Amino acid sequence: MKRVGIAYLIQESNTFSPLATSLDDFGITLGAEAVERWQGTRTEIGGFIDALVQPEIETVPLFAGWAITKGRILRSEFERMKKIARTTARTAGPLDGLLVALHGATCAEGVDDATGALLACLREALGPQLPLILTLDLHANLTRRICALADAVIGYRTYPHIDMHETGTAAARMLLGILGSEPKPRTVFRKLPMVVPAENMQTAQGPMAEVWRRGEETRPAAVQSFSVFGVQAWLDIEEMGCAVAAVTVGAEAEAREFCETVARRFEELRHAFDVGLLAPETAIREALATDGAPVVISESSDSPTAGSPGDSAEMLAALAEYAPDANAVLWLRDEKAVEQARVAGVGAHIRVQLGGLHDKVNRRRIEVEAGVLRLSDGRFTIRGSQYTGLETTMGPAAVLQVGKVTVLVSSESANNIDPELYRSQGIEPRDYKIVIVKSATAFRAEYGPFAAKMLVVDTPGVSSANLRSMPYRCVPLDYLP
Ligand SMILES: [Zn+2]
Repeated sequence: MKRVGIAYLIQESNTFSPLATSLDDFGITLGAEAVERWQGTRTEIGGFIDALVQPEIETVPLFAGWAITKGRILRSEFERMKKIARTTARTAGPLDGLLVALHGATCAEGVDDATGALLACLREALGPQLPLILTLDLHANLTRRICALADAVIGYRTYPHIDMHETGTAAARMLLGILGSEPKPRTVFRKLPMVVPAENMQTAQGPMAEVWRRGEETRPAAVQSFSVFGVQAWLDIEEMGCAVAAVTVGAEAEAREFCETVARRFEELRHAFDVGLLAPETAIREALATDGAPVVISESSDSPTAGSPGDSAEMLAALAEYAPDANAVLWLRDEKAVEQARVAGVGAHIRVQLGGLHDKVNRRRIEVEAGVLRLSDGRFTIRGSQYTGLETTMGPAAVLQVGKVTVLVSSESANNIDPELYRSQGIEPRDYKIVIVKSATAFRAEYGPFAAKMLVVDTPGVSSANLRSMPYRCVPLDYLP
């Protein structure tokens, strides 16, 4: 019997975000509870669990947790997290291998590379020889430390990330091969002195698809797997930049040369990642001039999955100004407004302030007349192709009607990429001319099949695609588009 440990801890940091991350944000489960919580989900750990159902293999769950993007993890909370990693690894009993899924762009206070720090805790407890396969998000910031501590590093192949489960499965297969006496691989990589916005990083078409194609065309047989890391751009940290990585057994020079080839293509295409952002007025006018519905307008500078509070009411103000007769729907976070709606009750009319509750630099508060249509606890289950089956919450929520605009207000930041955000609250996006979402790209996988058009607007915010507008201090300016 071989015993395989599994661990899963995912958060993408945004170091510009005004929201600090605590341990509670991860909803960490330990041991058997971790399997109960994550089994059957289309995530990396879901893939680990499924692929390890094999004769002669025992799955040993250590810990699992997921947190929405925010600012750095608080220093004391990160110490507790490291302790969980060390303790669960130490008390797991003898292991033959370890599968770890981390995001790769996670930062704590005083720790730019939290991924490397967590791996170091696991290694400290389990020793340097234990076969360890690591999966990372395509937006990971790959570091020397990560590649030194993991035997193999495997990133997602897709953006929007519809292959989390497959990535977990690939890692598990690689580990099972090693346990069946195949040699342990190593990971080599090449960093690129650049960061690019996420909006044009889709892997189905566009420049990122080109970069992957170059990799697939030139991959030598000695490279078992390779990954292209587009890196999350809103990290003002050391050792920052995109990367290409390759996993190989014994052909490191060849694998390095391969990384170089793919990296060169990535660099050649860097300006193809520039984003055509529209002013809110322009986007709304284009939506109104479009046949069919809905037109989905993304305010990516306020994307909760990219670390923004989600408290922008800018598009509500813009809709009132440029499209007062169009029916539209938008979501924003405003716990004060939810509380006011809750006290007033369904059917009440209230004067309420919306927006700018957390990001006081980029946002303003606006006052509107609103009817309270509905109140709920905000729990919902993701049904689209990413994080499928994950039960999540937007916190207590209220549906308000502001003129022709239906406004879903929630008390917490929420996954904004899945229409279930709206549907769970009785709102069908197909019934609207304009649907506002707050997501860089991931929304395209879910809204694309029924949207008449998808546009991205330029408003200031901590996840703006306009990277030159961000206050970078560590990242050299010539890394930026
Ligand atoms: Zn990502």
